[in-house]
Amino acid sequence: MITLPGRSLASSLLAGARDLFFPAFCLGCGRQLGTGRPPLLCPDCRAALVFSHSPCCTCCGLPFPCGSDHLCGDCLQDLYGFDRACFAVLYSGPVPRLVQELKFLGRTTVLATMASLTVLSGAADRLTEPDLVLPVPLHPSRLRRRGFNQSLLIARACFPNWRARIDPDLLVRSRPTVPQTSLSGRSRRRNLRGAFALRRNDRLRNGRILLVDDVFTTGSTVRECVAVLRRAGAARIEVFTLSRSP
Ligand SMILES: [Zn+2]
Ligand SMILES: [Zn+2]
Repeated sequence: MITLPGRSLASSLLAGARDLFFPAFCLGCGRQLGTGRPPLLCPDCRAALVFSHSPCCTCCGLPFPCGSDHLCGDCLQDLYGFDRACFAVLYSGPVPRLVQELKFLGRTTVLATMASLTVLSGAADRLTEPDLVLPVPLHPSRLRRRGFNQSLLIARACFPNWRARIDPDLLVRSRPTVPQTSLSGRSRRRNLRGAFALRRNDRLRNGRILLVDDVFTTGSTVRECVAVLRRAGAARIEVFTLSRSP
């Protein structure tokens, strides 16, 4: 693409004026920033980010402290059932605050920063081009209370090129569940058993699916969704979560 010098000068003047009159603040610690360009994070908060990196599990992306890439114990047993999962940043430093601002305060301004972290992480480069992008759904009662599904917003913001392939209505949560954060280990799985269903399954057979969620914690949510998609005949299932618990 050719950038006209006049246009780039005008846009940088506009950006300068915006930064002067509408100062931006760090989404991690609230400190004022010199620029409004995402990611809206100060140098200290940026330094606290841990991007997905090698060595890691070649299937689920779990980072290892040392050694080389290989399958982790869970993936050797095919615990999750997906073909591959990747994330942008670990759930540490400023990331929990970013996720919570979106989820509980509805601050959609964090999405541009999430998209920028996804680009910086190179996570999308590791994914196969999908036929369908499915955000992990909320139960209609929670969706009504919250007003939006954060996984759908993340999918739209982080994968703009695949926006037309997002189907937010195909995979549904068929019964309400208690928030996973209030549970641990086995009770998380029990809480989610049979919680997901497909409204139709005509588009899934032999399809390449990308499932999107905000945080990968124990993987129970993803595992339940993957089982439903496999039963419907999906050929390849990959997962992207903005973040992953360390
Ligand atoms: Zn900061
Ligand atoms: Zn793994």
